Amino acid sequence: MSSNLPTSDSSSDVTRAPSSSRYHASDFLLLILSSPSGAGKTTLTRKLETSFPDLRFSVSHTTRKPRANEVSGRDYHFTDRTQFERLVADGAFLEWAEVHGNLYGTSLSEIDRARETPGCRGMIFDIDYQGARQIRAKVPDITGVFILPPSMEELVRRLRGRASETEEVVQRRFAVATGEIEHYALFDYLVVNDKVDEAFDELRSIIVAQRSRRERRAPLAEALLRSGRL
Ligand code: ADP
Ligand code: 5GP
Repeated sequence: MSSNLPTSDSSSDVTRAPSSSRYHASDFLLLILSSPSGAGKTTLTRKLETSFPDLRFSVSHTTRKPRANEVSGRDYHFTDRTQFERLVADGAFLEWAEVHGNLYGTSLSEIDRARETPGCRGMIFDIDYQGARQIRAKVPDITGVFILPPSMEELVRRLRGRASETEEVVQRRFAVATGEIEHYALFDYLVVNDKVDEAFDELRSIIVAQRSRRERRAPLAEALLRSGRL
């Protein structure tokens, strides 16, 4: 990690973090999706966006260079290191981490925007395990899903098949995949992305189940009880 940056778990970051009540809402779903690079997070997230228009995709900041098909503001807010470091110093991120040699972070304003969007009932965060760990420490009511490839051979095939990266980048991402999979226990659900439609069905079921949790439906049950009293 760059030496002129406070660590992503530094106390200044924590004190500027939102109070958990800011993010705790019984009907607002916060879903973290993580995986080793190439396992299919982006593919699955795009499908989720179509099926759940009331969930908003969190657009992270990154110092990585855009890939050919990526659009600034849609896929990422692309920034340089100096700008990113300034945002860290200003306490602008709920979490941030260095991944594959680049900085990535989720800004607090991204979540505020979602909370203020009429009809928005939750957010999807495509972030790595370090970010998942930081958000978990700050926001209690969060659902974590880790996506696994069916095999390491298939993972490397997908990394190469993406064709937007050099062989050196593919090798670097593959080399850290084991270290990322080691953190699977930080998550509530593990989805295996073998057949994309089946993986998507599992993801969809997780969202539907999370939305039906007693804690989320309790206010309705209580309201029914209240209105049932004559
Ligand atoms: P990530 O966002 O996790 O890095 P991507 O969604 O970019 O991964 O997927 C990496 C590559 O693998 C892409 O070329 C994508 O089209 C392909 N891919 C994703 N899921 C599957 C799947 N279930 N079967 C075959 N190829 C897949
Ligand atoms: P990519 O460069 O392939 O888009 O993403 C590389 C990795 O960075 C992925 O594991 C992705 O989940 C992670 N990532 C993307 N945005 C964020 C973020 O805001 N915070 C953290 N901690 N990781 C992120």
